[in-house]
Amino acid sequence: MKYIFVTGGVLSGLGKGITASSVGKLLKARGLKVTAMKIDPYLNIDAGTMNPFEHGEVFVLDDGGEVDLDLGNYERFLNISLGWDHNITTGKVYKSVIDKERHGDYLGKTVQIIPHITNEIKDRIIRMSEESGADVCIVELGGTVGDIESMPFLEAVRQLNMEVGAGENSMFIHTTLVPVVGPVGEQKTKPTQHSVKQLMAIGIIPDMIVARSNGPLEYKRRRKISLFCNVPLEAVISAPDAKSIYDVPRILEEQGVGDYVIRKLGLEGAVGGPEMAEWYDFVERLMKAENEVKVACVGKYTELADAYISHIEAFHHVGALLNAKASVTFIEAEELEEDNHSSWDILKDADAILVPGGFGTRGIEGKIMAARYARENKIPFLGVCLGFQIATIEFTRNVLKLQSANSSEFDPDTPHPVIDLLPEQKDITDLGATMRRGAYPVTISEGSTAFELYGKKNISERHRHRYEVNPDYIHMIEEAGLIYSGRSPDGRRMEIAELREHPYYMGSQFHPEFLSRPERPSPLHYGLIKAALEYKERKTD
Ligand code: GLN
Repeated sequence: MKYIFVTGGVLSGLGKGITASSVGKLLKARGLKVTAMKIDPYLNIDAGTMNPFEHGEVFVLDDGGEVDLDLGNYERFLNISLGWDHNITTGKVYKSVIDKERHGDYLGKTVQIIPHITNEIKDRIIRMSEESGADVCIVELGGTVGDIESMPFLEAVRQLNMEVGAGENSMFIHTTLVPVVGPVGEQKTKPTQHSVKQLMAIGIIPDMIVARSNGPLEYKRRRKISLFCNVPLEAVISAPDAKSIYDVPRILEEQGVGDYVIRKLGLEGAVGGPEMAEWYDFVERLMKAENEVKVACVGKYTELADAYISHIEAFHHVGALLNAKASVTFIEAEELEEDNHSSWDILKDADAILVPGGFGTRGIEGKIMAARYARENKIPFLGVCLGFQIATIEFTRNVLKLQSANSSEFDPDTPHPVIDLLPEQKDITDLGATMRRGAYPVTISEGSTAFELYGKKNISERHRHRYEVNPDYIHMIEEAGLIYSGRSPDGRRMEIAELREHPYYMGSQFHPEFLSRPERPSPLHYGLIKAALEYKERKTD
């Protein structure tokens, strides 16, 4: 097993995850099996309970793991599926150490950060990487060097690096920032020097430095970083702002990163197979897309684009295929409720409307208004998870005239709980136990739009929800024209809804965005953008 540890300095948000994913891509294109792991030094056990305003979207894995969105990037870049144990948090580590202590596993010893916490971290990295069967394991350390909460993790990987054979079986890539300051626009390397110094103070010597900057890193600066940070010139890599994150593998490959890493780790392999050529082709189609459609995304975490990142990425995957760029504008659902003109104007001007997932009451009525507007005005619509439930509520209220229809999540006393917990779940008091997370099979009826898009009857998609369409109302709803064309194999859970007599009005209880990859874009997002292109054409005719 070879390890690549990716650390970050200077500040967060430098695209460490994208750098790590891109390095993985270059190795995978050389025929190596690559896996990835993300360390988040926060005390939460996982991202499941975190508000998307905190760290962006909660990404969901096949095994139901609720994890940091960086794992989504690993899955999309490497076209692999990861598990919950690929995300280590301080919470997970401390919990298992404390559980073991209570169980008497430490045989009366004083339990300490070093060695007990650090050993637990190392064990988890080793176990996960070995179970994955990969040749190379990329471990990304969240946060920045110098953070108090990162210390046990840095100490653990320092030790691990030495134990597995530093320089032969493992290496460190450090990402930093090279800002431009002053009237002459000089690139400054001092922050990089300081962060490397901090890394060295804890005993870690970087093997490669990836320097983020607005423009390409000047040769002079590369030399300076090489000399002062003790890294060969060829291992000082320039990572200027990229037009697309998917273009980063190319930027790194052109500077020899792939070859450098395999040489360093004693791995054989050269870019040969079709993987890289296909990737470059995808990136080119993505960046050169000629058509543009406007997508209005009606949500409640709209201040932070990262809150809906998997949707944005799904649109990129689809766009490359359809020669179309989806420009997504976020609308605060509450502003539609308040009759905010500019929000309504954005909605009315859109070629497609997306209502993504969400929890809680805020903004529900605004989302219902958006769904209604899309239905009545025949604007392509996709409702995901909460958005699917919204479509059902809207339909029962305004078509079936059950005015007080609602989800029992938002109105526990509604006379028409068209969205509700399934009967067997009602007595469960532990909320966590009622949450349906991860990959579950869905059966699609032939002849439906969903069947056309997926091209098959049996699919698997990722879920994260508690509530369901209430079985008591299904017959009525379908009779009126909203068809549940996808269901769980036992037929009890409604999974996909589609409206007859509408160019494209779809909803899914699952999250198709989590499985969207450049190689196989989400079929429901594909359908939305295709319909949006047609709608736009009709509009301009
Ligand atoms: N709040 C809804 C539920 O729990 C929808 C969840 C979601 O959109 N992820 O079922």
